[in-house]
Amino acid sequence: MKIKNFKLKLLLSYLFVILISFGFMAFFLDKNLEENSLQNIKSSLIAQGLLIENQISQDSLQKADVASLEPLAKSLALKAKCRITIIDTQGKVLADSDKQEIEISVMENHLTRPEVKMALNGSIGIDTRYSPTLKINMFYIALPLKEKNKITGVLRLALTLESVQETLFAIRKTVFLGLLFALVLAFILGSIVANMVVGPINRMIQMSRKFSEGDFSRRVTGFANDEIGELAVTLNQMAEDIENKIREIKTQNQKFSAIFNSMIEGVIITDKTGYIVSVNPAIEKIFAVSKIDAEGKLFLEAIRNNDIAETISNTLENGKSLSKELVLIYPVRRIFEANAVPIFDNKEISGCLVVIHDITEIRRLETVRQDFVANVSHELKTPLTSIKGFVETLLEGALDDKENSRSFLKIIQDHTERLNSLVDDLLSLSCFESKEATIDRESLNLQKLLEVILSGFKSQLKKKGIEVKNELTGSVTINADKNKIEHLFINLIDNAIKFNKENGTIRIYTEELDGKIKIIIEDSGAGIPAKDIPRIFERFYRVDKARSRELGGTGLGLSIVKHIVELHKGSAGVESIEGLGSKFWFILPK
Ligand code: ADP
Repeated sequence: MKIKNFKLKLLLSYLFVILISFGFMAFFLDKNLEENSLQNIKSSLIAQGLLIENQISQDSLQKADVASLEPLAKSLALKAKCRITIIDTQGKVLADSDKQEIEISVMENHLTRPEVKMALNGSIGIDTRYSPTLKINMFYIALPLKEKNKITGVLRLALTLESVQETLFAIRKTVFLGLLFALVLAFILGSIVANMVVGPINRMIQMSRKFSEGDFSRRVTGFANDEIGELAVTLNQMAEDIENKIREIKTQNQKFSAIFNSMIEGVIITDKTGYIVSVNPAIEKIFAVSKIDAEGKLFLEAIRNNDIAETISNTLENGKSLSKELVLIYPVRRIFEANAVPIFDNKEISGCLVVIHDITEIRRLETVRQDFVANVSHELKTPLTSIKGFVETLLEGALDDKENSRSFLKIIQDHTERLNSLVDDLLSLSCFESKEATIDRESLNLQKLLEVILSGFKSQLKKKGIEVKNELTGSVTINADKNKIEHLFINLIDNAIKFNKENGTIRIYTEELDGKIKIIIEDSGAGIPAKDIPRIFERFYRVDKARSRELGGTGLGLSIVKHIVELHKGSAGVESIEGLGSKFWFILPK
């Protein structure tokens, strides 16, 4: 059976070691003690025998005087505390301290006893055996009794081995008790030591379990300054390092996801087989997919766009960055640029990163710029061609024709004025569009300002018989740039007159909004077709180009209005019903 518990193993090994060492000790001690005790008994019996032998009279011995030998044996036995037997050279027992006189005569001849044999041979006889007479184990010493070097008998001293056995038993008992005590003590101390050893190990195991669950906040405590302690310190250090690393990674991840999630550009990350690993919220918006649905799917399964799918597979195949322009029609037409970059891990392609920029605005601005250049060139070309034509005509002789030359010069003047106002409008526009454009705010009373502006239009109004209703009150004040607001009013009123019918009306009034003011210029002109309304504030956009030119318009007036309003953080718009008139409005913060 395998013992799985380390603490039990440790404890059992303690007990085993103690058991083994005690066993050996007890074995050798027992053996040694037994030998020593027998040796001691032997020496003391010999010494006693040598002392006693002189007290046995040779006379009684030779006469086999049992009557005198018997009490002597008994009294000597009493003093020497052992059994004393006196035997003659023929092996006949003459006296025995443990037997009565009558018993002696029937006692067996002792000549065959090994110790007696040895004594009769002149040496000290020793033997240990079971005494059939006394029915116990006995230790015998036999000394030859001599007279003038002639052996006259044998003095035998015998001791039961019981006392030796008793001593040995007592010692064995002590050793056994000692062993028991040592085992109990070993068990208690062993338990304490095992706890001391196993405690930190158990805590380390618990800590490692927590590690595997991702909790690195635990630390091992209460360890000694030994190898296990060193292991605990290393483990604690490791936990701290990992915790710090995880914290670092978490912070980096947070930063990464903050960037990833807030990017305007759409980002798709795929693995090397083209499965989507991650997409950011911008992608969710562009392709109307949810992150949860897209992640883990093949690109084409999640996003049905062949152009991007092709770009991804080409990038993964060739390991080279690719860029592609794509047009998405639904829900609105937008142009995107997809840049696919391979992701390398140890020089092996491990995935693909696709960044998708919305370049609709860039493309629109490019078109606007191209259109603008084309428009400006066109607008300049028309008056310049006219001027050139009339100047050439004049130079070719028309100058002498007084009547015509005057009208030609008048036409040239008109075109020059148009060129001038075109350049003025272009300059104003570029000024308002530039990033450095600033506004010098001041408190403006709109009613007063409008009065001054309208007085400038007096003759124009009179010519067309148009009536202007200035419904602004003295309380209408705003904080704005006076020159720019003036410019704005002039453009709108100029249009309201130009595109108005004869004897029409213009009404200028306000509507109060929350913290803002809405100013409306309403005319009774031809109005604007619904299809043109969304583009009316664009540069050079005109409903009727020829008419506008004829009226001296540049097509930039409303564009300038829009810029001025936007500079003041406001908004502008138009409501119009074709044939009934238009309501141009702008809202400014008070
Ligand atoms: P223009 O120099 O031609 O007036 P604008 O930018 O001021 O240029 O106006 C652009 C076009 O918007 C005009 O050509 C005209 O077709 C239309 N428009 C502007 N104001 C009015 C109005 N009050 N009524 C009808 N059409 C207007």
